Amino acid sequence: MSKINLGIIGGGQLGSMLSMAAKKLNIKTTIYCNDSSAPAQNFCDEFIFGEYNDNQKILEFVDKVDIITYEFENIPYETLNGINKKKKVLPKPSINRLIQHRLAEKDFINKLNIRTTQYTLVQKKTDLDSLNDLLPGILKTTTMGYDGKGQYPIKSIKDIDSLNIDFSKEYILEKLIKLKKEISVIITRFGNNNYEIYEPIENTHENQILKYSKIPAEISKDIFDQSKNWAIRISEELKYIGTLCVEFFVDKNENLYVNEIAPRVHNSGHLTINAYNISQFENHVRAVCSLEKIPVKKLSNAKMVNLIGNQIQPYRQNIKLNDKEFFFDYLKKEIKDKRKMGHITTLI
Ligand code: ADP
Ligand code: MG
Repeated sequence: MSKINLGIIGGGQLGSMLSMAAKKLNIKTTIYCNDSSAPAQNFCDEFIFGEYNDNQKILEFVDKVDIITYEFENIPYETLNGINKKKKVLPKPSINRLIQHRLAEKDFINKLNIRTTQYTLVQKKTDLDSLNDLLPGILKTTTMGYDGKGQYPIKSIKDIDSLNIDFSKEYILEKLIKLKKEISVIITRFGNNNYEIYEPIENTHENQILKYSKIPAEISKDIFDQSKNWAIRISEELKYIGTLCVEFFVDKNENLYVNEIAPRVHNSGHLTINAYNISQFENHVRAVCSLEKIPVKKLSNAKMVNLIGNQIQPYRQNIKLNDKEFFFDYLKKEIKDKRKMGHITTLI
């Protein structure tokens, strides 16, 4: 059989790592991205630059590949669904549509009787007047948010005027949780009750951007088991194919909440590259390309540090690493404030 050509929409670091994992499996990758300087073009076999509503360009991409996946969720549903009529898109476009909308996502999770923060839809400024119960809280755009973008912490109703919020957009207001910890669980589902799951990862954010991840997470046995069970239930309910990440909050009273779901490989799982026999990226490629599922085995505990903005500089200037340290440079052309530029994983 000729080599499989996997199409990937999105050309950031996650696309790069998917391409590297595919290469190891002798799978070709073609990336489609709306950023002409996308870093993943350094790692894929072929790169196509185009907008996500440029049907002509997208058709060119779809004709070249056998199957399509994506590395970020903010792709218009119409685009993914249109592609899916010609070649299979995994995870299914309907799953991405559900998860890219914070309200639909949280409603879905609650229907499974899985706890989330308390939340409500906010469509206009006056909606906030009656929402004192949800304060202090965080106002979040219902769509297109990532790395804390589109979020406004609100202590009291009088804060609203000074925040210059654009109410032509829709928001949800979420009650603030008194966080003890944040964890994530990554699972790769191949079919009915057929999945591989990684142990919970403990995450620390700075300014709403992930800074550190580590395994093992310092959590109780109950939280360990419950978080994995909830991730399994969510992926089964979605009939998900590929790698999915569930982000959780643990509050000061040891209650577990689902924060959000990422229908893709996830930054907190970078450490799976070095700490496991099969990374989240390889597992994603295996699942969407219908390859063999291999049981995951942890090889080592690990911690990962994201290098944000110019924190990458010293590492680019040849810092000495020992044999337990692995440095990844995403090869982004421009260093920008709050931009993830690379990471270091250390086996511990
Ligand atoms: P994004 O889509 O940008 O990742 P999240 O909803 O995951 O948005 O929020 C980013 C981070 O902000 C979280 O990981 C957490 O640290 C903090 N945060 C968000 N919502 C809450 C909340 N309701 N209570 C406490 N912290 C929160
Ligand atoms: Mg998040």
